[in-house]
Amino acid sequence: MTEKVECIVVGAGVVGLAIARALALNGHEVLILEAEDGFGTQTSSRNSEIIHAGIYYPSGSLRARTCVRGKALLYDYCRQRGVDHQQIGKLIVATQAQQLELLKGYQVQARANGVDDLELLSAQKLHQLEPEVSGCAALWSPSTGIVDSHGLMLSLLGDFEQAAGTLVLRSPVRGFKPVAEGFEVTVAGTSMKLRSRWLVNSAGHGALALAKASSMDHLPKSHYVAGHYFSYSGKSPFSHLVYPVAETGGLGVHATLDLGGQLKFGPDVDWRKQLNYTFEFEDIRRQRFATRIREYYPALEASRLQPAYVGVRPRISSPNEPAADFMIAASETHGMAGLIQLFGIESPGLTASLAIAEEVVARLRTD
Ligand SMILES: Cc1cc2nc3c(=O)[nH]c(=O)nc-3n(C[C@H](O)[C@H](O)[C@H](O)COP(=O)(O)OP(=O)(O)OC[C@H]3O[C@@H](n4cnc5c(N)ncnc54)[C@H](O)[C@@H]3O)c2cc1C
Repeated sequence: MTEKVECIVVGAGVVGLAIARALALNGHEVLILEAEDGFGTQTSSRNSEIIHAGIYYPSGSLRARTCVRGKALLYDYCRQRGVDHQQIGKLIVATQAQQLELLKGYQVQARANGVDDLELLSAQKLHQLEPEVSGCAALWSPSTGIVDSHGLMLSLLGDFEQAAGTLVLRSPVRGFKPVAEGFEVTVAGTSMKLRSRWLVNSAGHGALALAKASSMDHLPKSHYVAGHYFSYSGKSPFSHLVYPVAETGGLGVHATLDLGGQLKFGPDVDWRKQLNYTFEFEDIRRQRFATRIREYYPALEASRLQPAYVGVRPRISSPNEPAADFMIAASETHGMAGLIQLFGIESPGLTASLAIAEEVVARLRTD
């Protein structure tokens, strides 16, 4: 049997939900197919929950553009819809004099991305803001914040369902193929075929496997870059987000606060051969974390670090390449009108989700 629907979105992470919501609010008939038995159980619930300012990314890149636009949309959305969030601000700390140039470089890059509110702080000013943090200078980002990612996804799903959208769980999409006026989509465990005019592959870690199973070419390589988090037992010594300067492959083991005031440290950068969320080498990792954290928080007691969780970045660049941009592959890449595939949507994908949704809807319309 074949069922017809106007648009299918594969994947109910924060990005798939934001896209599906935007399509449904624009009056389209939308079905989300999600493999798991709940929404947002993968990368969207294994991250730092930070609303990024848009500092580090190359100017003009999708990451820069959608982060800056997404941040503004997200703050507005959270305010309007009562999604829990807080604009608590972030400090990037230089612990050695030679890192001062890096801070200045971030400020220049941020300005080029349209983020012109960064302020370079002296050691004294840093000490006033965060007495426990040690550093010779810091960059203050007042527009960085935190958000309840589950609350955000719940709200996006609520909007989507109110606009007559349907989410179907336990529906792993096995493949798709182009047919007259659209796509035929096969879901594992059912003989039913679905046909849609528009198809969005927003399956996160599953997006490349799905594209391959559907005989798509011109695909990037997929890599799995895990990041471990330790939670801190005890009262947080900080009241803002505290970051070291960025490291290769990540933003450095930083201190983030959640909306309940719980402090955690992470994520590190751990390349894996396969997707798994195992917390590996707890004791060695705790020591490694402690060494790095003590560079900016010398009073840390390592015994307060408790293994919390692991998130895995869906990376499309290899270790020796510069970080790849988000890839939103439309017909100019694969030659099929009405198909959008999203690859490599790692950080700042949570911040950027509403802007990515705008971008996808615009591309589908002009396809
Ligand atoms: C360690 C870490 C820290 C991060 N920190 C931040 C941060 O602080 N701020 C920020 O802005 N961003 C952050 N990010 C990035 C952000 O979390 C992601 O960009 C975002 O969650 C990606 O959402 P998604 O919907 O694309 O993917 P996902 O959340 O992974 O959703 C994809 C969905 O597709 C489903 N799926 C897969 N295959 C199939 C299939 N064949 N059929 C049907 N369904 C399928 C999956 O089950 C899943 O639900 C971080 C990422 C990581 C890894």
